[in-house]
Amino acid sequence: MLDFQGLSCYNLSNMEKSKIKLYGDPVLRKKAQPVKKIDDRIRTEAAKMLEIMRKARGVGLAANQVGLLDRLCVIDTNRGDTKGEIYTLLNPVIIRNEGKLKVEEGCLSFPELCGEVERPAYVRVRAVDLEGREFEADAEGLLARALQHEIDHLDGVLFIDYLSFAKKLLMKKELDALKKLSKKR
Ligand SMILES: [Zn+2]
Repeated sequence: MLDFQGLSCYNLSNMEKSKIKLYGDPVLRKKAQPVKKIDDRIRTEAAKMLEIMRKARGVGLAANQVGLLDRLCVIDTNRGDTKGEIYTLLNPVIIRNEGKLKVEEGCLSFPELCGEVERPAYVRVRAVDLEGREFEADAEGLLARALQHEIDHLDGVLFIDYLSFAKKLLMKKELDALKKLSKKR
């Protein structure tokens, strides 16, 4: 996969107008709960998340990032001239993974920050779509990266958790600033 730009550092000024929760908000550390019934609330939530993600030009967005604790995430791998796909996933789980790849990663909840994260290069994911149908999908490249990043969010895990102590120390000032900003929202 050539284009990982999409998952890299996001611009803070874009994020300031958005409803996306920033690092420091406790909801980002909570575990989202399985979606048991696909009703209007879930459908509306999914549609809103797609809209928020598009506005922020994100590759993915998990429910925690908009302050909700349903196991729901949206992914859009369309990037510039590269045609991608849009997915809404309920209760996603990784059922297989393979290989290792270290790639620069960012997050909509961490504007202006990014760091190299090692993750499996390939994953097979099982999830449910908005019609309630269970499906499995194989992914590599940007999609594999985004799926793992978003499923982590649903478990309260953030990309900075994978960074070295030294790298986190280098980011300390920015992380503290985000924490302060998240309290004001
Ligand atoms: Zn993220």
